[in-house]
Amino acid sequence: MRLSQFHLATVKEIPADAEVASHRLMLRAGMLRKLAAGIYTWSPLGLRVLRKVETVVREEMNRAGAIEMLMPSIQPRELWEETGRWQQFGGQLLKIRDRKDQEYCYGPTHEEVITDFARSELKSYKQLPVSFYQIQTKFRDEIRPRFGVMRAREFLMKDAYSFHLSPESLAATYRVMFDAYSRIFTRLGLRFRAVQADTGAIGGNASHEFQVLAESGEDAIAWSDGSDYAANVELAEALAPATQRPASSAALQRVDTPDCRTIEEVSAFLGVDATRCVKTLLVRGKDGLVALCLRGDHEINEVKASKLDELPGVSELASEAEILDATGTRPGFLGPVGLPASIPVIVDRSAAVLGDFVCGGNAEGSHYTGANWERDAQMTRIADLRKVVDGDPSPDGQGTLHIARGIEVGHVFQLGGKYAQAMGATVLDENGKARSMLMGCYGIGISRIVAAAIEQNHDEQGIAWPDPMAPWNVAICVINSRQGTRAQDAALALYDQLRERGLDVLLDDRGLRPGPMFADIELIGIPHRVVVSDRGLDSGTYEYRRRGESENRSLSHDALLEMLVAANA
Ligand code: ATP
Ligand code: MG
Repeated sequence: MRLSQFHLATVKEIPADAEVASHRLMLRAGMLRKLAAGIYTWSPLGLRVLRKVETVVREEMNRAGAIEMLMPSIQPRELWEETGRWQQFGGQLLKIRDRKDQEYCYGPTHEEVITDFARSELKSYKQLPVSFYQIQTKFRDEIRPRFGVMRAREFLMKDAYSFHLSPESLAATYRVMFDAYSRIFTRLGLRFRAVQADTGAIGGNASHEFQVLAESGEDAIAWSDGSDYAANVELAEALAPATQRPASSAALQRVDTPDCRTIEEVSAFLGVDATRCVKTLLVRGKDGLVALCLRGDHEINEVKASKLDELPGVSELASEAEILDATGTRPGFLGPVGLPASIPVIVDRSAAVLGDFVCGGNAEGSHYTGANWERDAQMTRIADLRKVVDGDPSPDGQGTLHIARGIEVGHVFQLGGKYAQAMGATVLDENGKARSMLMGCYGIGISRIVAAAIEQNHDEQGIAWPDPMAPWNVAICVINSRQGTRAQDAALALYDQLRERGLDVLLDDRGLRPGPMFADIELIGIPHRVVVSDRGLDSGTYEYRRRGESENRSLSHDALLEMLVAANA
């Protein structure tokens, strides 16, 4: 591409609400233009990168044996009623009406549509297993769209779905997809981890997320230093402490703790470490309020809590009024001692082994010291309720957990029978009997990958693309001179030679001064830069610099060609 004939529009001033590096750099490089909240136009430059990602994903999906197709983005309400998700999907589902008053949604995902396709197209076990995929725009009305295309409302996803009769067949395809995902992210040059994930509202048994490691990531990942265990913190199990609960030694005592509402305040005021305090949360259960007790320094894991039998599949804190009504006190002073017997008390494993602990007094401005389970406070049962923390033992018994941050770029799921059953998707088995199919689903956030790659690969000057994602592999910068067109001619010749060898080459023939020209090329992250000038040509060399390095190298024509071809092989 000759840059004089392209539309490059780098930007100096960007909005202050661009919080993360990738969002800022995509705006500065002119890859994106915001149209509305969470809705973006991909400029010609942005699209080149998006297409590179798409190409790698498509190649690997094809290699994994998945078959490409394209489903509509607008989906009728009736289909979503069949699975109950018209209601269940919640506010993320953008609902629309046509002129005949028919209701539709803009597809946030395509389980319903593919299952509808499968139930009419697949008739016999002989057609299974089979995997279909598409690369298509999704819409989710996210509560807080942010970080540009990282959490957008409209975004590009690759979604694949597989169909099976046996769990073994599903597990085998899951493995194939898992390996394809690993190859995709490796090929794209990203540092990532596959982590065990919660199966959430979609259900099913096995699930992994592919997380690109980055400080700005919204997800926390627990990984073991003694094994290959890695899981989303939402899922990671906190083992019961190896220690037994000590016998009580102190007497239960009510103490005044005016204005101490948080564990930090109570622990500072009483001079007792937070690890010796119990905090109590009241949540809305299926049949009234439920108390959850945790050690003072630990945090509730909402995903674990929402799976408790006592809760209705979500964990919602009780309001101050509900708490006041049930206990006579306010949130900061709740405790398990003397709670109404109608409130079940579920105690986290780590809080359950405490003795002589501090807890809320169930009266404004007071706490208990010397509290003990059973003697002073009843527990209904013990459960794993908390988020794991750095230093916890790994749940597989090998090594210690550490916490890293990640950006979820892919998700693979063994859905099992959920959608096929709800929608009556059956095939005839060997005996001619109709049997419901099993399904897997496999998503990749194509547009999110672009942002995630920048989070991992940038510096003061701008983006530093891994070679496979770069909009162009090489930029040739021409230093114009007043003495004829020698540099331009040499640059053009090099441009042709590199293109003949299969490289994506950008020729910066805009006639800019070197400063602004180099700044643009660095900002948009081209991995290899070649400068062609009269001075270099006088000594038979080209000036080469790898993005991210600070030194130029003078290379002969042949050495340069060989090096660039090898780098992009
Ligand atoms: P998240 O937990 O980040 O909201 P999700 O679990 O809802 O994602 P999936 O339903 O598994 O996402 O969708 C598959 C992939 O689509 C995700 O792994 C992610 O890469 C991408 N994705 C999901 N939501 C968005 C979004 N709002 N913007 C950009 N990409 C997204
Ligand atoms: Mg997910």
